[in-house]
Amino acid sequence: MKITDVRAIYLKPKEIKARTDSSQDALIIEVETDAGIIGYGEVDSCPLVTKAIIEAPVSHTLSQGLKGLVIGEDPFEHEKIWHKMYEGTLYYGRNGAVIQAMAGIDLALWDIMGKALNQPVYKLLGGGFKDRVRAYASHMFAFSPEETAEVARRAVDQGFTAVKFGWEPMGPDPEFDEALVRAIRGAVGDEVDVLIDGGLAWDLKAAMERVKRFEPYNLFWLEEPLHPDNLQGYARLAESTGMRIAAGEEECTRAGFQCLMDEGKIDVVQVDVTRVGLTEARKIAFDAHQRGLICVNHTFTTDINTAASLHFMASIPNSIILEYCAEDSIIRRRTVRNPIKLEDGYALVPQGPGLGVEVDREFLREYEYRG
Ligand code: MG
Repeated sequence: MKITDVRAIYLKPKEIKARTDSSQDALIIEVETDAGIIGYGEVDSCPLVTKAIIEAPVSHTLSQGLKGLVIGEDPFEHEKIWHKMYEGTLYYGRNGAVIQAMAGIDLALWDIMGKALNQPVYKLLGGGFKDRVRAYASHMFAFSPEETAEVARRAVDQGFTAVKFGWEPMGPDPEFDEALVRAIRGAVGDEVDVLIDGGLAWDLKAAMERVKRFEPYNLFWLEEPLHPDNLQGYARLAESTGMRIAAGEEECTRAGFQCLMDEGKIDVVQVDVTRVGLTEARKIAFDAHQRGLICVNHTFTTDINTAASLHFMASIPNSIILEYCAEDSIIRRRTVRNPIKLEDGYALVPQGPGLGVEVDREFLREYEYRG
């Protein structure tokens, strides 16, 4: 089997809000083969930048677009293809947007392999650790404690046994931050797990102050309290508290994750497969496992990401809870025809061939941005 085409499809509604909410738009990757099989992936990054990285013509041997590098390759040779993409972009790649664009193609290769073998991707990854994963409803904070409590209550009514809230308006005001956490805990009771995403809001001393304030509310974890470059801060914070510290969504390389684990001393390693790829994500998960750390997904885009994350988590021994993006957006709702199924607070690992999602190509055509 040979790859014959790669398309990067930018889905964009008319209005995008300047909020830290990556569910608003999406970059979908379509890889076509001469066997008639089409694989789908996704990239959660800056969509038009990663699209350009895929479509760019050759400049010289170490500065090529990804599409030109993968056409003609056999999708089963995913390690070789990863290496070829890495080397062919060396002058401008090695991290960030290039790796994220590679991740989208890598996911599509796994989808193709699964479809060709009529097997779900987690089996190809050697998985089967679980067929469902406990899910937390992942939300942005509303703008007041009362509204946030209302959203939390709705999530519990829908059957979730864990909820997460993150980003603005948490950050500048310690009293207000505590009021947000208190409102969530009050709304969901003691039986539901509460996760808080600090959204990079603090320096080390402010983060230490928040950890003390939040301790009585028994958080499941505190995510990204500090800037991702502040590894020393992460280490000092993690060593100062019994509260789990989670991070990783800005990382896309195995080396970056190793630094976060060894220098940042975090407790929970969060991998976004649409920024890392499944080929590398599993290596990172086993690096974490070797260090006794939990490895989970980061997902705030479509069910292509959620499905790939479920296959990932079903194929590693150290995942415990799935981020299920609960923000409503037309892109999230309509990109796939068979959304991920939730049952009693668990997300079911798709059992169909490949990633197990049916992408709605008519919707892609309707919402593709051609500006
Ligand atoms: Mg986060």
